[in-house]
Amino acid sequence: MAERVIPLIDQRLGALRAGVPATPIAATGLLSDTLGRPLRDLRISVTDRCNFRCSYCMPKEVFDKDYPYLPHSDLLTFEEITRVAKQFVAHGVRKIRLTGGEPLLRKNIEVLIEQLAALRTVEGEPLDITLTTNGSLLARKAASLKAAGLQRVTVSLDGLQDDVFRAMNDVDFPVADVLRGIEAAREAGLGPIKVNMVVKRGTNDNEILPMARHFKGTGIVLRFIEYMDVGATNGWRMDEVLPSADVVKLINAELPLRQLDASAPGETAERWGYADGGGEVGVISSVTQAFCGGCNRARLSTEGQLYLCLFASQGWDLRSLVRGGAGDEELASAIAHIWQGRGDRYSQLRSTMPPDTGGGARRVEMSYIGG
Ligand code: SAM
Ligand code: SF4
Ligand code: SF4
Repeated sequence: MAERVIPLIDQRLGALRAGVPATPIAATGLLSDTLGRPLRDLRISVTDRCNFRCSYCMPKEVFDKDYPYLPHSDLLTFEEITRVAKQFVAHGVRKIRLTGGEPLLRKNIEVLIEQLAALRTVEGEPLDITLTTNGSLLARKAASLKAAGLQRVTVSLDGLQDDVFRAMNDVDFPVADVLRGIEAAREAGLGPIKVNMVVKRGTNDNEILPMARHFKGTGIVLRFIEYMDVGATNGWRMDEVLPSADVVKLINAELPLRQLDASAPGETAERWGYADGGGEVGVISSVTQAFCGGCNRARLSTEGQLYLCLFASQGWDLRSLVRGGAGDEELASAIAHIWQGRGDRYSQLRSTMPPDTGGGARRVEMSYIGG
């Protein structure tokens, strides 16, 4: 198919050129990829910077003062993000998650939230707008985020014991401040709140039960995430992954659980309810149980590259289209063309690949495309 070629400029790992197909692809909300998966969920990274140095994500030795973060001019502006997001919504996206890096470090993030909150789905409904944060700035920002139109937040928290938490964020940040942030989010009405805990065997697995006890009965949904082989800098090893099945077994032995139905198609978490009615927990088994079959998520990087999988090594350069003068229809057609060609299913294929190769290419960092 003939394409209008837009020249490449500076890219993190060498982007793929996004072309506009010669025959426009109308936005009907019915787009699907080569495996029949629709496009429903857009994750937007608004910064590649973070004030934490979690060893599994931005290890200090790599992300030091000399690390080449993106210059501000490379970042999509709020207007550019909203314009791109609008085309995704026209193709069927219903949920937008802001992430990073630490999204609350992006100056005036509330302005972006206001713009996104004004968008409507193909069915004319408001979008489900959420944000994943390390919680460090939440106490200060919860009220203004809610006022801007944010509906809910997911807070990452890897333990309650102050020394474990300080070691995991590796910048000596106290756990009490994050707990205050969660409380502020609740007071602001940013719910239902989810708390994500990445479990690393031998590092914080002794925090599983204390975390479960702490959040049981609070209405906050705690979710345990298997430590993943994202990026190329965290020195991931399979023996540091604690399978979700073990997490469920551990909790169930003290606090009996019953499996619940999935809340939505393509939902990543398996849900377990406390038998005594004390709420639920979730497990996200990205390593031991692939869920690529229902994966309806696209990721837009800080500098405007479209990633079709968390484990991709390259993204499609949408920023060049946006800054190169493409109109809305051209942009929507380009996105459709890329999604229609998508066949990514890394987690399903992981077990067939040589360890830590990412299929032969260096994978992009999670702090760059977001979780
Ligand atoms: N800074 C924000 C935060 O920590 O919530 C948002 C970005 S962070 C990259 C998004 C999510 O990815 C967090 O919940 C984090 O715990 C998770 N994450 C990062 N590296 C991971 C890894 N190697 N395995 C599993 N989850 C990871
Ligand atoms: Fe920062 Fe979030 Fe990565 Fe931790 S997981 S280093 S808080 S981006
Ligand atoms: Fe989706 Fe890629 Fe994760 Fe599979 S590995 S669930 S395709 S992001």
